[in-house]
Amino acid sequence: MTSVHFLLVDDLEENLLSLEALLRRDGLELLKARSGDEALELLLHHEVALALVDVQMPGLNGFELAELMRGNERTRRIPLIFLTAGAADAQRRFRGYEAGAVDFIYKPIEADILRSKADVFFELHRQRQQLATQRDALEVQAQALRQADRRKDEFLATLAHELRNPLAPLRHGLDLLQHSREGSKATEILDIMDRQLTHLVRLIDDLLDVSRISQGKIVLRKERLELFNLIRAALETSRPLIEAANHELTLELPEATLWLEADLTRLAQVISNLLNNAVKYTPEGGHIRLVVKADGQEAVISVADNGVGIPPHMLASVFELFAQVDQHLDRAKGGLGIGLALVQQLVALHGGTVVVESEGCGKGSIFTLTVPLATGSAPSSSPSPSAIAGPPAAMARLKVLVVDDTQDVAQTTGWMLEELGHEYRLVHDGRKVLETTHAFQPDVILLDIGLPGMSGYEVCLALRQDPALKHLTIIAQTGWGQDRDKASAQAAGFDHYLVKPVGLRALGALMAELAAAKAAKPATPAT
Ligand code: ADP
Repeated sequence: MTSVHFLLVDDLEENLLSLEALLRRDGLELLKARSGDEALELLLHHEVALALVDVQMPGLNGFELAELMRGNERTRRIPLIFLTAGAADAQRRFRGYEAGAVDFIYKPIEADILRSKADVFFELHRQRQQLATQRDALEVQAQALRQADRRKDEFLATLAHELRNPLAPLRHGLDLLQHSREGSKATEILDIMDRQLTHLVRLIDDLLDVSRISQGKIVLRKERLELFNLIRAALETSRPLIEAANHELTLELPEATLWLEADLTRLAQVISNLLNNAVKYTPEGGHIRLVVKADGQEAVISVADNGVGIPPHMLASVFELFAQVDQHLDRAKGGLGIGLALVQQLVALHGGTVVVESEGCGKGSIFTLTVPLATGSAPSSSPSPSAIAGPPAAMARLKVLVVDDTQDVAQTTGWMLEELGHEYRLVHDGRKVLETTHAFQPDVILLDIGLPGMSGYEVCLALRQDPALKHLTIIAQTGWGQDRDKASAQAAGFDHYLVKPVGLRALGALMAELAAAKAAKPATPAT
């Protein structure tokens, strides 16, 4: 803590020295002035906790000094004690208080009186200093909270930005299928929707762990993938925008197959972000070039446009969060200024870099990203289509009870089970599960957690109490995917945990496992 300052004002040096000797203590610094002017000079440079002022001085006397101090914002609240020879008459005291005195001390000074009065102001100032330190600490905390809050807002903005991309092709695909189910493109459209839905689900998975991401911890799901698939995924998102703006797109792809160790969703998002920016910042009917090539151990992907360009002074900052070029006045098109920051972070997470070049306003821009190529070339095996086919002859047909209050979820799950060769029955209310279980005798129950009337946990606990049902496999199928939800499900007696949406492949794999286990088991007596 910094020292407390007292100002001593007396024209006689010996008085100043005796005051100094009486008041000296740790943490106290004494400023000595031999005149009112000297005192004013010291007051300009120091924060003073108490001024002890001799009344009678040549030049500016004590009262005049006090009046000047009262007239100044910086010094008006400094407590003043006047030192005066002999008992002052009422008139003098009155003038002194009017000038702002808090007290009088009479000469010859009694050491104890001086010290006890000075102590009060010393302690008062110390407490004020402590309060100020605490206030500063609180301000730092408040600032950290405000920053966290801003980061949360930034994060939500990022979220919306990221979710919108995959939604566009899903909307388009659905509209096209509703228009014509048998069209020649139906299979392709379904493939696109499948891929985009997978992207969406992955994004939501990450979003669930909001705190992790708001601390800047985005976990990549790297897999070995063909660069071409990445470009295709990015184009799926961006092509409608490119076409809507009548831009001409030129693609230059390498002959050889290039492999990356990358997160398809994130890197596709990076490329489509660059493409979308090229669309946004290029006047209609422009030209966009997407060039992909290998350079040594790296893949180089560049997106060039002949649009508005970027002025030289902004080239270094366009990747910063919220940075936007002011001259690009058509802000209706601009987003939140987070796209490029995200691009840079995601590329860095892949061990790559992204740079921008532009010769200035109106001269177009080129964004180039460089990411390491995967070493070796064997592709990772993806599950073969037979993995989602119905159960082989050796596998048992399962009876599955599907419990979900959302009828569409229950029905589509039922249809998937049928597709997989199993038998199903649907229930939409937790309270009906026990009764239906006894009547239907399922092998497996797919049980939603958030049910009206009786939660999935309660239903599971009730089922587990019935010894006649001990062979029953109970699977939680829920929208809650946090670790603690999984732990609660395990505690309630669930055997497996599936997070919605559960695709045909994942459901097929689990059912095949259960069917194989059932087939391997000796037959249970018929009930
Ligand atoms: P947003 O586009 O949402 O404003 P970005 O982070 O994607 O945010 O981009 C930041 C800024 O960089 C944009 O506001 C724009 O001024 C500039 N910019 C990005 N891409 C281009 C481009 N292809 N041509 C010209 N300027 C661009």
